[in-house]
Parts: sequence; structure tokens; C-alpha cells
Amino acid sequence: MKLTQVNVHLMQAGAPTHTAWGGAGKSALASGRNWLFAEVHTEEGLVGVGEGSGWPRVVAAALPDLAPLLLGEDAFQTERLHQKLRVAMMGHGHLGVVGSGALAAIDTALWDIKAQALGRPLCDLLGGRVRDRVPYYAHVKDAETARAAVARGVRALKVGGTRQIVERAWAIREAIGPDVDLIVDLHGPAWLTGADAVAVGRALEGAHLLFLEEPVAPDDPLGWRRVRDSVALPLAAGERLGTLAEFDQLIASGLVDVVQPDTGRTGGPTQLKKIAALAEARALQLAPHSGSLGPVAEFAAVHWMAASPNGLILERLEPDWDGKQAAVARSLQASGGYIAVPADAGLGTSLDLAFVAAHPSERNIALPAGGWEPGTEQEIPYLQARRSRARIVDR
Ligand SMILES: [Mg+2]
Repeated sequence: MKLTQVNVHLMQAGAPTHTAWGGAGKSALASGRNWLFAEVHTEEGLVGVGEGSGWPRVVAAALPDLAPLLLGEDAFQTERLHQKLRVAMMGHGHLGVVGSGALAAIDTALWDIKAQALGRPLCDLLGGRVRDRVPYYAHVKDAETARAAVARGVRALKVGGTRQIVERAWAIREAIGPDVDLIVDLHGPAWLTGADAVAVGRALEGAHLLFLEEPVAPDDPLGWRRVRDSVALPLAAGERLGTLAEFDQLIASGLVDVVQPDTGRTGGPTQLKKIAALAEARALQLAPHSGSLGPVAEFAAVHWMAASPNGLILERLEPDWDGKQAAVARSLQASGGYIAVPADAGLGTSLDLAFVAAHPSERNIALPAGGWEPGTEQEIPYLQARRSRARIVDR
């Protein structure tokens, strides 16, 4: 399976019809969402596809630099090629989410080729299925959207942001009853102090969350320790990390119960397998991040979850922009709160190149709105005193 060509496809993606993240703000996805896909071709005619996040427009510039290192190589040598690309990027400093996003795009495409060549779904190469369907959770913003999600069969929900978050989370819990799982994502804004996160966490303990996500920023270890020591809820994080070493630190820290890699920026299946093993060794569970991801990364997440014994639940924007289905030849099938694991050989999908080309990238950054305390986003500083504490922690 000699590699002959790497094609890069970058597109502007749209936002869901409604965003779950509180307030009147519109989703940052409306103007800043890009999807980046790599197609890797072989001499035999097989084409693998992968997706890279971690700032897609920047990853798109990195991939053509890496492509010559792959030409003439054997697609089956995924571990060696993964190592080769890491070495090639050493001179740029730590990989971070951009380097790890480039790795993810290529590595996923190589595993797709390998699985296609063997005539097996990707999960069979990652250890085989431990489950035939993957549970997912959807975003909601209030009791009404929560009831609607439950009515269509979703069995786990997430509400996010900080504005009146305790009040909103309790309203949702009371609307859905005890049998539907509830997650709260504070998005770890740097201005949310450990003290405030503890107050929110304690106020939510009785709501029996599946987990509390990013109570403080990932670069605030003292805040994390304070929350961990003071809040009796499972904690989750990991969506902003890229490398195996970063996940090792998170997993070994004892600060989280649930690990949330973004399958577009964590090095592809080669590294995802290792992250799953690190987490399994410490009895931690996996809940892959989705957020702004496109359809190919979601296919990768489903195969990984299908083969990971400690897979807990997958994030999924539902509803999402219609283009998520239109950008690929085949879409994942979701019903009753589960996504069926694809049985087709390989990853199970391919790009609709005409659709992708018809949506050229325009902009790939936006200030989040709606998930942030009003007032702070007018002032912009990354780290500053938050406003309206009662609006955050009161019920
Ligand atoms: Mg999150």
C-alpha cells in the first residue's frame, strides 16, 4: 500500500440551528467553524480520509509540509509513520493541538486505508468491538430543549456556560427526572476562580451529574486541585490537550474521572489507543469531545469508543448544521441515544468533494458568546475578575 498523494480539503462549516450555550449570544461556530480533511491516496487506488482540528486553518498549512515525508511509504506502517511525523515536527517546539491535529488527520487516513485493505471496519483493528452501539449525549439549554431531546430518545444531556448555570441545571434535572444523565460544562474560562467553581460544584452535587466538565481552566492546576478536594462530583477534562504526554499528566494527576480527547487533535487512532490504555490502567472513563468537529472525526470517535472497554459516552451536537451530513458520502446512524458502529470496511465514509469545495474557508476564529459571563467578553482580557457571582452560583 504505497502512498502516492496527500490532498488537503479545508471548508467553512455552519452552526447548528440553535446553540445550547445559554444567554442570547449566538454560537461561536456561526462564524468560526472550519473543517479540515486529509485524503491520502495509494498506488493501489485506495483513498483514506482523516480530519484534523486544533485550529483547522493552521493545520491545513502544516499538512503540505508533511506530505513529502509520506510519499512512497507503506500505509500499513502506522506506528512508524506516526513517529516519523513527530520527529519531523520537533523543530517547531511542542506539538500542541496544531501538530497533534496534523498527525490526527494523516494517522486517521492511514488507519482508514489499512482497514479498507483488510476489508474490516476500523474498530476491528483497534481491538474489535466491545459494543455494537455507542451512547451519546446532546446539548440542551433549558428545561424545554431538555424535554425535547429526551422525547426523541436521547438518554444523556449537557448544559453549558456559567450564566445562571446552577439555576438552569436544576431546572433541567427537575424536568428530566432521575433516569436521564445530566452533564454540566463550565468551559473552564480563565476568569472563573477555583472558589467560584467549588461553589457551583457544591450547588450541583444533589443534581447527581454524570460529570462536571472543565470547572476551571486547564492551565489552573491549583484551581483544579481546589475543586477536586471540595466537590463530590466526577470531573472531566481533556478537550484542549493534544499530545500523549499531556494526557498522561492529566490521567496521572488524579484530578479527573473522565478523559475527553478531541479525536481531531489527539494524534489519530495510533495515539487514541494509547490514551485509552493510560486511562484504563487508572479506571478512568472516556468521553470524546466533539464541539466544532466535523463528520470524519466523529466516525473515528465511534470506532475508538466501540473498541475501548472504558468508553463512557460520546459528545454529539444534535441538531447540527445540515452540512455535516452533506460533506460525506455516508453518515452515522443515531437513534434512541445511541450511534450504530459502522460495519463497512475502513472508517466507513468518504468526502463529498463537491460539497466541501463549495464551502471555502473564510474565517476560523471567533470570540465565544453566550457561554461567557456578560460583561467580561466586552472587556476581553483572558484573566480578569468575573462579574455577578450570584448569577453564577445561585439557584
Ligand atoms: Mg467542553
